[in-house]
Amino acid sequence: MKLYPKLYLNNVKEITISILNKYKLKGLILDVDNTLIDYSKNLLEGTESWAESLKTKGIKLCILSNSNHKNKVEIVAQKLNIPYIYFAKKPLKKGFKKAQNILRSRAK
Ligand SMILES: [Mg+2]
Repeated sequence: MKLYPKLYLNNVKEITISILNKYKLKGLILDVDNTLIDYSKNLLEGTESWAESLKTKGIKLCILSNSNHKNKVEIVAQKLNIPYIYFAKKPLKKGFKKAQNILRSRAK
């Protein structure tokens, strides 16, 4: 199965609860490089409160990164207090399945 974008946004923080509700999404699988962090490995400003806000509204978050730098991915995951998978080998399905299972296991 090939997946195609239904929505293009400028940055991850533009994903709001109303967009998620519109698409009936209860969880997000997040990339790290150039998504949660910039070229200088800095967490995008305001990302912590964005993640926290979605979590309080019941949205489950999980990082799925192709990076093999465990430490880099882990630091971001810890800052956002969300689970992570690194060295995910996207676009292979295995990592996405694993992330789905993590999201489901956290669903109430
Ligand atoms: Mg990326």
